[in-house]
Amino acid sequence: MRDWGLWNLAPAARRYVIGFEFVTVVAVALACLTDAPATVFDWRRLGVLVGAGAVHLWLSRRTEETRRDSGPGPHMDTSVVWILPAMVLLPAWMAVLSMLLLRVQLYPVARRPLYRYTFGTAGILLAALGSWAVIRLTHVDVTAAFGAREAFILALAGLTYFVLNAIAIGGVIALSTPQPTWTVVAGSRRDNAMAALTVCLGALAALAIANAWLAPLFVVPLLCALDWGALQIENLRGDARTDHKTQLLNSRGWHEQAGREIARARRQNTTLAVAVLDLDYFKQVNDTWGHPAGDAVLRAVGAVLRETTRQGDVVGRFGGEEFVLLLPDTDTDGATQVAERVRQGVAAMNVAATDKRGQPVVISNRTTSIGVVAGQGASADLDELLRWADAAVYEAKNAGRNQVRLAEPPADVAV
Ligand code: GH3
Ligand code: MG
Ligand code: MG
Repeated sequence: MRDWGLWNLAPAARRYVIGFEFVTVVAVALACLTDAPATVFDWRRLGVLVGAGAVHLWLSRRTEETRRDSGPGPHMDTSVVWILPAMVLLPAWMAVLSMLLLRVQLYPVARRPLYRYTFGTAGILLAALGSWAVIRLTHVDVTAAFGAREAFILALAGLTYFVLNAIAIGGVIALSTPQPTWTVVAGSRRDNAMAALTVCLGALAALAIANAWLAPLFVVPLLCALDWGALQIENLRGDARTDHKTQLLNSRGWHEQAGREIARARRQNTTLAVAVLDLDYFKQVNDTWGHPAGDAVLRAVGAVLRETTRQGDVVGRFGGEEFVLLLPDTDTDGATQVAERVRQGVAAMNVAATDKRGQPVVISNRTTSIGVVAGQGASADLDELLRWADAAVYEAKNAGRNQVRLAEPPADVAV
């Protein structure tokens, strides 16, 4: 219990989570007690919804796992599509039951801490009960007739779901982030578009199932195609930011992530450091053993950088034989130590490769020159930091290579 992530949350966020879950339980109880009893049609719809949801989950679980692994942030999944039809078409207790049955099956796929998964479930439930209330209070029956009024009410129910869910997630982010910005709390445009799309699909599924109980036969393949498409897009986004030779970030990916770290350092006024590495006499490697051997050395340097840096450090290759590090919360002493570890790591490499005739060779005694600069968060400027670190690399080269040089910009320069 003590290691439970809930206790590591900021106190305000913890109170919010517990309060939110309490309100959800009360709302669920009220809705279940006041809603109409189930009919035989309801039982059939319950079976269809849970069955279709389970098949959809089973078919898309690989995709879902990969997508969840790609980031820790709040995560929309298309299984939410089934909650809106449940709330529109079933008595409240059945709708809640169908949702819980699907969430239990999703849990091993989601691989999230239990307290977070529980809160996520509560967020979805309360938002779904909001849409249920809209449907019940307006006494609209989308199964009987579907005109402009029904379309409007269904849209309103969907909107209610979307807004309540955004409040649930945004609230906990706002309370657990030190200096939350509007974009962090509201989520990215892509996440919101995905959430809105899911609500629209849920409304469409509700209409289809209201009129033909076998409609999920057509809905499930559509959802699987969407899940797959979303994964492809995510992979492409990753590819566009990765250097394929070393699997480090490329220039674009590095600048994006470094930009986020600089913004955070400015808000919290922490120090941060940048180190630039340029391998010494790298051309000799290519000239002596050929390009593939040079590539093997670059890959080995990438591995050294991954081993010598921390989780939050931003590590990239700017093309050629130049690498860059951004070290958050690190001052000059810390950054010099990291750079020195990297220098020693590169010097100790024994890289297995093949020479120009395809014979195996072991390449060792490679060295690197490293320039380091640290800046105070409040005034940090990425281009300026890179310029000073680069200048320090040239100093290291001129002083005989295989060394770490610290740039010391004058106090009136913002780095
Ligand atoms: P210095 O110590 O002054 O940095 O010498 P250097 O030979 O490392 O410097 P220079 O910048 O002249 O050479 C860099 C070489 O890196 C030239 C180029 O052939 C090689 N190179 C750049 N990108 C790659 C790559 O992706 N693979 C391989 N194998 N070589 C590359
Ligand atoms: Mg170079
Ligand atoms: Mg070089």
